[in-house]
Order: sequence, then structure tokens, then C-alpha cells
Amino acid sequence: VRLSSTPRSILTRKPERASTDRADLYAVLDLGLVGHLGFVRDGAPVVLPIGYGRKDDTVYLHASTGSGLVEALDGGDACFTVTMLDGIVYARSVFDHSMNYRSAVMHGRCNRVDDPAKKLEALETIVEHLAPGSWAYARQPSRKELAATAVFALSLAEASVKIRTGPPIDDPQDVRAGHRWAGVLPIKTTFTEPEPSADLAADVRLPPHIATRATPR
Ligand SMILES: Cc1cc2nc3c(=O)[nH]c(=O)nc-3n(C[C@H](O)[C@H](O)[C@H](O)COP(=O)(O)OP(=O)(O)OC[C@H]3O[C@@H](n4cnc5c(N)ncnc54)[C@H](O)[C@@H]3O)c2cc1C
Repeated sequence: VRLSSTPRSILTRKPERASTDRADLYAVLDLGLVGHLGFVRDGAPVVLPIGYGRKDDTVYLHASTGSGLVEALDGGDACFTVTMLDGIVYARSVFDHSMNYRSAVMHGRCNRVDDPAKKLEALETIVEHLAPGSWAYARQPSRKELAATAVFALSLAEASVKIRTGPPIDDPQDVRAGHRWAGVLPIKTTFTEPEPSADLAADVRLPPHIATRATPR
């Protein structure tokens, strides 16, 4: 299914910035680490930041069974977004200031994953997205921990991607005036140096799956 193929996933403004390529959706989701989940609770909209993982055309989310999120989300309609901010666009006019970004919006129902094998697979997807290598390295969840965790699946069937790149689009008049700087200040998000826990046993070395991801300061 192409992106933006349903009425509510079609961009109204600047539709030329929409991508219909599913690969762009996967790229945003695979690069991002935090999403924002919007849903309706007691008749009012709520948007919460949340971690996630993607497998094929499904995004998995998890939350504590005791949380208000779980109660409100179960089987309900939701909207999930992930944004990569690539730069601040400085224009000659404040009006034409902008941001460079890649953003994804997904619409659909969050269906609870209760099948034990599928639930574990979904949790592995989330863990391996946020902390690759940790599923094999860290202790596996206990039955109690699994029972305390609700997992939801959101299909990527109804999604849109919007991408802005490039310099500011100034009024020709402002460009001609000539005395103000214009351009892009790019943003880069990186991991830096790992900070070992104070209670770490002396003989525990930094495992390769974390060392390779870290960048020395
Ligand atoms: C980092 C960032 C900062 C932004 N800042 C602003 C701002 O300050 N003011 C502002 O007006 N807009 C801003 N936008 C753009 C904003 O997200 C909307 O795209 C914009 O408001 C116009 O939406 P529309 O009328 O096309 O959307 P609507 O008609 O309201 O939406 C229709 C459908 O289009 C899709 N869609 C809309 N926007 C996006 C998107 N960004 N990514 C993927 N799918 C989308 C969704 O599926 C949505 O349901 C920003 C976007 C990003 C990523």
C-alpha cells in the first residue's frame, strides 16, 4: 500500500513534501527512537511520548498494565508520530524561517498483543530497536514482568511521511536586500560516552553491542 492513500492521511498543505514511498516511512521509524502517541481519553485528546519498535508493517508499543494509557488505548483509535529534526532553517524574514525534517504519521487502531509468543516477539522488537543487542545480553522478562506489561500493535497500513530539505525559501525582495544571513543550521543527534553504573562489579566490561554504538567525547 502506498503512503497517504486514505483521506485522513493525505497532506493538505505543501503536498509536494509528502512521500508516497514506503521505504521513507521505514527509514524514519528505524532511525527515530521516540514517538508521540495521540488518542482520545474521556473525550479529550492526549499525546504522550513513547518508545517503540517496528517489524515489517507493524509498530509495537508497550506500557505498564497499571497505566492510564493502557486502559484508554485498548482497541481504540490512535495516531502515532515520529519526527527526525534535521536542521533549523534561517531565512531573511522571520516568516520564512522553517525546519528541515522527516516526519511520519500513522493512523489506526492499537490492538493488544496477548498471545505469549507474539508478545515476546513484540517486546524483542522494541528492545532491539532501542537497545540493539540487549535482548540476548540482558535477563529475559519473568512471568510477573510480562504480566505487568501490555503490548500493542499498530498497523502501518494508513500512514504518511512529510520531508523538508534544503535552504530557506525567501521572498525575492528579502534576498535582493542582501544584508541578512540565510541558510540551514543542521542538527545531529549522537550517542556519546557510556556512563557505567556506580554499583557495577569491577570485572564487568562494556559489552560490544554498547561499545560500538557509543562515541567517545
Ligand atoms: C519538526 C516539525 C515542525 C513543524 N512545525 C510546524 C509549525 O510550526 N507550524 C505548522 O503549521 N506546521 C508545522 N509543521 C508541519 C505540520 O506537521 C503539518 O504538516 C502542517 O501543519 C500542515 O499540515 P496539513 O494541513 O497538510 O495537515 P492536515 O490536513 O491537518 O493533515 C492531514 C494528514 O496529513 C498527514 N500529515 C500532516 N502533517 C504531516 C507531517 N508533518 N508528517 C507526516 N504526515 C503529515 C497526516 O496523515 C494527517 O492526518 C512541522 C512539522 C515538523 C516535522
